[in-house]
Parts: sequence; C-alpha cells; structure tokens
Amino acid sequence: MNKDDDVNHASAASNRALSRRNFLKVSVTGAAIASAGGLSACMSRPMAAGKTTKALALYQGKPNRGERCAGCTHFEKPNGCEIVVGAISPNGWCRFHEPLPA
Ligand code: SF4
Repeated sequence: MNKDDDVNHASAASNRALSRRNFLKVSVTGAAIASAGGLSACMSRPMAAGKTTKALALYQGKPNRGERCAGCTHFEKPNGCEIVVGAISPNGWCRFHEPLPA
C-alpha cells in the first residue's frame, strides 16, 4: 500500500461520514416537517388523503346550536360525509361543520 492508497481510503471514509451526516440531517428535518404538518392537520381540518374518525371529529348524532350535517357542505346524501368515516345522521354534527352557502 502506498501513500496515495492511504489518501484515497481516508477520502472515501470521509465521504461516507459526510453522506451519513447529510442523511441524518435530511431525515431529522423531514421528520420535523412531517410532525408539524400532522399537528397542523389535527388542529384544523383532517388531511385530504383520507377521512377522519368520528371521535377525532367530535361527531355527535344530534345538532349543535342549530348546525347539523344536512346543512353542511361536506354532507353526502343520504348519510355520508366527505370528511368523517362511516355512516352519519343528517341531524348529526361535528367540529368540521361548514354551513352551506346562503
Ligand atoms: S358536520 Fe361534520 S360530519 Fe356532518 S357533514 Fe359536516 S363535516 Fe361531515
């Protein structure tokens, strides 16, 4: 083994270390962004990719202060919702209620 081989081995090891470091940086950053996005989705509306559970939507089978599913933009006749999974009552309500336009 000559001096050039030692330099090449050291350089390759250094590159691998940098790659692992960059991977970890990207992974940690990605996880932080994903967590923030998930938290944000929980605090406002559910993610567009799927429906949320009745429990997370705070769904109830009765109206709330005059608001009910039948008067919500997300209601799908006869007993569905584009946001909440499962059958719902037209007289139900959840925290994602959005009134139909007047
Ligand atoms: S009030 Fe909630 S459960 Fe009812 S239709 Fe609207 S979004 Fe769906």
